[in-house]
Amino acid sequence: MFKLFSRAPLHDPLASPAPEAKTEIKTTTCYMCACRCGIRVHLRDGELRYIDGNPEHPLNKGVICAKGASGIMKQVSPARLTQPLLRKAGSDRGAGQFEPISWERAFQILEDRLAKIRSTDPRKFALFTGRDQMQALTGLFARHFGTPNYAAHGGFCSVNMAAGMIYTIGGSFWEFGGPDLDRAKLFVMIGTAEDHHSNPMKMALGKFKRAGGRFISINPVRTGYSAIADEWIPIKPGTDGALFMALLHVLIAEDLIDRAFLKRFTNAPQLVVLETGGDREGMFAHDPDPAKGPPGDGREPHNKLVFDTVSRTIKAAYPEGIAEGADPALEGHYTLADGSKVAPSFQLLRERVEPCTPEWASAITGIAAERIRGLAREMGETALHQAFELPVPWTDAWGRRHETTQARPVAFHAMRGLAAHSNGFQTIRALAVLMSVLGTIDAPGGFRHKAPYPRHIVPNFRAFNSPDMLKPNTPLNAAPLGFPANPEELAINADGSPMRIDHAFSWEHPLSAHGLMHTVITNATRGDPYRLDTLMIFMANMAWNSTMNTMAVREMLNAKVARAPGRPKPGDTPAGGRPPEADEAAPSADGDFQIPFLVVCDAFQSEMVAFADLVLPDTTYLERHDVMSMLDRPISEFEGPCDSVRVPVVPPTGQCKPFQEVIVELGSRLKLPAFTTADGQRKFKDYPDFVVNFEAQPGVGFLMGWRGADGTEHLRGAPNPKQWEMYAKNNCVFQYHLPESMHYMRNWNREYLDFAKAKGWRQKNDVIQLQLYSDTLQSFRLAAQGKTKGRQPPEHLRERIDTYFDPLPFWYPPLEDAATDTEAYPLNAITQRPMAMYHSWDSQNAWLRQIHSHNYLQVNPLTAQKAGIADGGWCWVESSWGKVRCMLRYSEAVEPGTVWTWNAIGKADGAWQLAPGSDESRKGFLLNHLISEELPQGTGRMISNSDPVTGQAGWYDVRVRIRPAGPQEPEATSPQVVATVAAPGVLGKRRGPAAYFAGKKRE
Ligand code: SF4
Repeated sequence: MFKLFSRAPLHDPLASPAPEAKTEIKTTTCYMCACRCGIRVHLRDGELRYIDGNPEHPLNKGVICAKGASGIMKQVSPARLTQPLLRKAGSDRGAGQFEPISWERAFQILEDRLAKIRSTDPRKFALFTGRDQMQALTGLFARHFGTPNYAAHGGFCSVNMAAGMIYTIGGSFWEFGGPDLDRAKLFVMIGTAEDHHSNPMKMALGKFKRAGGRFISINPVRTGYSAIADEWIPIKPGTDGALFMALLHVLIAEDLIDRAFLKRFTNAPQLVVLETGGDREGMFAHDPDPAKGPPGDGREPHNKLVFDTVSRTIKAAYPEGIAEGADPALEGHYTLADGSKVAPSFQLLRERVEPCTPEWASAITGIAAERIRGLAREMGETALHQAFELPVPWTDAWGRRHETTQARPVAFHAMRGLAAHSNGFQTIRALAVLMSVLGTIDAPGGFRHKAPYPRHIVPNFRAFNSPDMLKPNTPLNAAPLGFPANPEELAINADGSPMRIDHAFSWEHPLSAHGLMHTVITNATRGDPYRLDTLMIFMANMAWNSTMNTMAVREMLNAKVARAPGRPKPGDTPAGGRPPEADEAAPSADGDFQIPFLVVCDAFQSEMVAFADLVLPDTTYLERHDVMSMLDRPISEFEGPCDSVRVPVVPPTGQCKPFQEVIVELGSRLKLPAFTTADGQRKFKDYPDFVVNFEAQPGVGFLMGWRGADGTEHLRGAPNPKQWEMYAKNNCVFQYHLPESMHYMRNWNREYLDFAKAKGWRQKNDVIQLQLYSDTLQSFRLAAQGKTKGRQPPEHLRERIDTYFDPLPFWYPPLEDAATDTEAYPLNAITQRPMAMYHSWDSQNAWLRQIHSHNYLQVNPLTAQKAGIADGGWCWVESSWGKVRCMLRYSEAVEPGTVWTWNAIGKADGAWQLAPGSDESRKGFLLNHLISEELPQGTGRMISNSDPVTGQAGWYDVRVRIRPAGPQEPEATSPQVVATVAAPGVLGKRRGPAAYFAGKKRE
């Protein structure tokens, strides 16, 4: 044993393995973050030894990051759950008192409970999941169960990024598209943490910089990517929209815009009806005959109108407006034959940005006006005057052949720093419009889509929208999630109240395409709009770092019917003004919990597990089958679609079972149609069988490679029973290379549009015009103004809809500002993600926690000194909603008006099997304690602290102040919680150090 302390090496790395040792290398896909790199897992005698990158994988080409290599420590984490658990009768939630049960008993409990709910009131079952990659499966389960109460994590992550971009250009950053750094000359990154888009972005950035590209990072904090940028432009959080409006002001004023692109590929020349006072006000003028004109431009198939400057006449946008010799106007005011006043939507955009001068934006953003002006010019000059043409011919949607493809070498990338604000949707709309006026959409060197994107604008996925669809034992006739195109597509009751427990797709947050997971516990506890019976949470730590107002939410999870949970709030009336349905509380396991039955599925003993009634132990990514599917979130590249899988490389630990198997098993037991044959038998043996044989439409399944009975068809074809084998033999990945003629301009590329429809990626093959002006948003605004005959918002939400559903982008202060005394709380507080963690994942990982076992509040020295706090000293951070004690560090990588910390380092004592009093629980802290999950909405009402358009959680809007902690105060974070006790069967620490010698293992 003393060898550990001797100078002799622990082992000789050059020695050959002992002859009896069996070594193997298995390939699968990493899931230490959502980049999904290919990895090789090295095993000796069946035990994990190390993980490296797979050189054969198209995404990472052998590169691996610290997270990926640390997967071995996830596998052996002491916090691994290993068996199903049932809360002991009479114990409180949060106390962590469990008894182990068999899987059969767990399934029977769920089957009995869910069958009863489904046969009476299916909406009383809610399924919400974290950052998983199986939403095509879980969404299918919820739909066939018949509950609308389903969503994944997008509502509290980046739905603003997805919706803001998709409603404007038909695609978005991250899995759906990104910057073409191989051809860009200028790259502008805004609000992006390095945990997102990890290896692929780092590889692309390295290449870009070596090729002489210029990289500008706009971010309140100079961490991660900002640290290697050629220029860091600090910005005040929540003000990016003002910057984009000012950039648009300069670009348009100085005519640094791609006019030809705007005229042909966007709705910029289309004529908007001005000020009629009627139901067409602010909508596009069009030929009323739906038979005339192409489908497209939202769900309204009519042909829009343009003013042709050559003939000086009004013409149909297609085909006359784009005919040879026509030249649609982008500016001016015109009159239709019926006397209606109209103007091109670009004219309205021009008028909108006219007052948004650099000086105006400078006062908001903290960026000097001259720098804003210079930045706009740099963007415009690069896009227009450093442009080039690629010798790539393509044919547009109207049949016109282009012999070359126009490059616009200015690329952008943005993420949650823009999205996680209550003004994020309109901010991201402004960014998408900025990219559009530069002509950089699906252009070489600009933003490029990844299949199955671009989608139609608005995407042809409608969420269910009628109470009549909710029936016992009946699937919904539309998916729980979708993209509303007008008020008629909202999920509301006849009185305008929400149909969903999270209030998604209601007048509170109409375009909440990813749901609002962050409102579920508060609403369900309150019975607003009704009480749930069973809430199933997968892979989301709602009792800690995945929730705002953490301490109150923990109380809510344990709240009994008679107890009023949470902190006092102004008034006690929910946003819809509906009283809780107190008389219809369903009996809980103990008869009286506000949320009667709580099921938690997780691989680890997170803080949330202690609150469960039933715990289902999940596997790790190394123990299961997974698919990164075209039906969900594939790993496509710019040049073609790409999907991938995981295959088990080690057996499940203990009794762990993949959540996918749980879903397929429950779907089969409950005889949900998707999982049952016509004669009522079980359709799929298990999850791998489901993946191979389920078809979303004929020939279209979860995986697109090696389809057809003999495995020779790709993209579309009959199920192939050997599909898993083919993926396993091919590095767990399938990549399809589109011909070069389909690489660009895919919103308008005839060959691509036809191809995408034929392969089932799109329902139609119609052109996808960019929506600089959104008549979709205007349709909601008209309803709020009482100008339409259909659905209208309740009185208390009219002004909100009227204000935020502006058809043109605009900047407004984050909503929290109005609920806060900004003089008393002058600082913006935000979190950043360290590159050693993705979201909060692996903050307990034995290797990675050596990098970050606790966090500091990072503060500019000027701010800290003014508050009298020393570098490394303890301080209090206070918001209007709560306070937290933490350590402070001086940093000049942040402006004086902003403070920040790493996300989710702090842990509850004892959770994650960390030692009592670990750094994470004593020195680490959560900013979540300072953030309210609700804000006042009118007199006596509360509403989710979210974007009013999409319901995106406003994580980065909180305002704080700082003061020194008292000399007598304990040097530990506050608040603290009662230590979590170990769950039965939790893996726990190995006895003694795990040491490996050449061919021989010692414990
Ligand atoms: S970037 Fe993400 S997927 Fe790739 S190796 Fe690192 S953790 Fe794994």
